[in-house]
Amino acid sequence: MTATTAAETPATPGDGSGDALLIVNNLIMHFQVTQGIIFQRKVGVVHAVDDVSFEIKPGETLGLVGESGCGKSTTGRAILQLYSPTSGEVIFQGKDLTKLDSGDMRRMRRHLQIIFQDPYASLNPRMTVGNIISEPMQIHNLVAKNERSQRVQELLQTVGLNPYFASRYPHEFSGGERQRIGIARALVANPDFIVADEPVSALDVSIQAQIVNLLENLQEQFGLTYLFIAHDLSVVKHISDRVAVMYLGKIVEMAGSNELYADPLHPYTKALLSAVPIPDPLVEKGRERIILTGDVPSPINPPCGCRFRTRCAYVMNVCKQIDPHFADQGGGHFVACHLYPGSGA
Ligand code: SF4
Repeated sequence: MTATTAAETPATPGDGSGDALLIVNNLIMHFQVTQGIIFQRKVGVVHAVDDVSFEIKPGETLGLVGESGCGKSTTGRAILQLYSPTSGEVIFQGKDLTKLDSGDMRRMRRHLQIIFQDPYASLNPRMTVGNIISEPMQIHNLVAKNERSQRVQELLQTVGLNPYFASRYPHEFSGGERQRIGIARALVANPDFIVADEPVSALDVSIQAQIVNLLENLQEQFGLTYLFIAHDLSVVKHISDRVAVMYLGKIVEMAGSNELYADPLHPYTKALLSAVPIPDPLVEKGRERIILTGDVPSPINPPCGCRFRTRCAYVMNVCKQIDPHFADQGGGHFVACHLYPGSGA
């Protein structure tokens, strides 16, 4: 039986322009599973992120999609060094974040921010909105004390909230307003790169579009670069320049947003896209829906070879033996599947 390794992965998939703000190379994030209270024994390893590589150029949005538990959020957090990656490189503005000491990482942190999925859980209920937003100003020593409330009011206005909301508490706001507060807090330090970790998943559909539009406007206004994580492919299409599809800790397909939606290659991407509703009833009626059977295998014991093989309708013998390479099919459309050239079969 042959197995491919991280080292065999070709060049880091990007758009080929070579001017990336962020380069993720062979990122691996494993968590040990232990048992016992006093003498903890290692009983397994969760392969949350396994050999993930991509680039994002300045001002770009890369959408990262996949089912719950596929490793999308872990990837985002490992990039921000909220988890210490097991191995791999995260090169931001030319510096490998995995090699920075805690002081250098603290200084770097202001350039990298995160917007969380649950705007309520991520805001301290005992702090006023003004204190929540001004806290990073204090931590990073960004704004003089007597100018902080002015800056808080400016930021609230920037995200479409009344500046006088600064004296209120998080429970006084709706979900959409709380997410706007979370976005204002992420903007405090004038970041270059933001991981938006399912920023609209907890919101009503009518509010989702408002938050996505706000993020797009802010990107234009401040030149932001996003890693936009979501499980809803229709949301990702709207905001992303390129989209990466993740399954069980690995990226299985990556392409420009229009290209991926018009011509998906990987069987998993095809199945995900077939479940996205189309607002035209005539098109929707004639469409074939691909139903994935079986559950996502455990990341503690992922299948050998192609990880999608236990649910794939096209599975072949080679799929059990060789982990397919992530190969460019032309024009920056990458796929990891033995149905296509360059898979290493
Ligand atoms: Fe299916 Fe094989 Fe392609 Fe995996 S490599 S997606 S099992 S055809």
